[in-house]
Amino acid sequence: MNIKKGDTVLVIAGKDRGKQGTVVRALPQLNKVIVEGVNLVKRHQKPQGQLRQGGIIEKALPIHVSNTMLICTECGQPTRVAHERRPMGADQKLRPVRICKKCGKVIADRTRSA
Ligand SMILES: [Zn+2]
Repeated sequence: MNIKKGDTVLVIAGKDRGKQGTVVRALPQLNKVIVEGVNLVKRHQKPQGQLRQGGIIEKALPIHVSNTMLICTECGQPTRVAHERRPMGADQKLRPVRICKKCGKVIADRTRSA
């Protein structure tokens, strides 16, 4: 999957088309992502003792990755990505990276510490 947790994506289809948000969870098995503030539904929640208040809460549901485009961390453009192996990190080991098709730079992976 091209999109990982921590990425910023642009929604290109559905009711939230045009919105941007941060991926809070990636679900590679389903090819879906949960994007902050996107595909919100209202859920009526019963109070559970003193732990949880009842009421209406908003919850983000997963959307299909094909309905999103990754926003490049380098040029800020929504882009398709290429996969390559590049020497990365302190030890310069070849690691799979995502390359922006617009600017050709490596897109930062926020799930991995630099
Ligand atoms: Zn770029």
